[in-house]
Amino acid sequence: MAYHYDDQNIFAKILRGEIPNDTVLETEHTLAFRDINAQAPTHVLVIPKGSYVTFDHFSAEASDAEIIDFTRAIGAVCRLTEVSPDAGNGYRLIANAGRDGVQEVPHLHVHVIGGRVLGRMLQPAR
Ligand code: AMP
Repeated sequence: MAYHYDDQNIFAKILRGEIPNDTVLETEHTLAFRDINAQAPTHVLVIPKGSYVTFDHFSAEASDAEIIDFTRAIGAVCRLTEVSPDAGNGYRLIANAGRDGVQEVPHLHVHVIGGRVLGRMLQPAR
């Protein structure tokens, strides 16, 4: 399967330093920054620095080092923002993909959301 990455997406521009961001954590392969339209007191986006559109793209083509770094960074963000159940009250991870997932930005990002009761995971289908 061939994945197509659009390097004009807004997160690519953030990674190139063309648009500012509110950084929470930066590692060798990963950047985490606050969502500009936060849905909860904690709403951080964790993105790989590499050019990956979706989680399935990332899992197929990223190196082991990138995958390990990204996975550890997501956990670190949970601890840094104190939503980890060990320090706070929990969180939800979301990675939207494609049309049905209602993905707005075509660069893989995991939402780390917490700081309030989030309710049920999905609304009933309409
Ligand atoms: P998704 O629907 O999963 O693609 O979510 C994209 C997210 O990116 C939304 O929650 C937006 O609020 C967020 N977003 C868009 N532009 C920016 C930006 N410049 N800085 C931070 N977050 C952004």
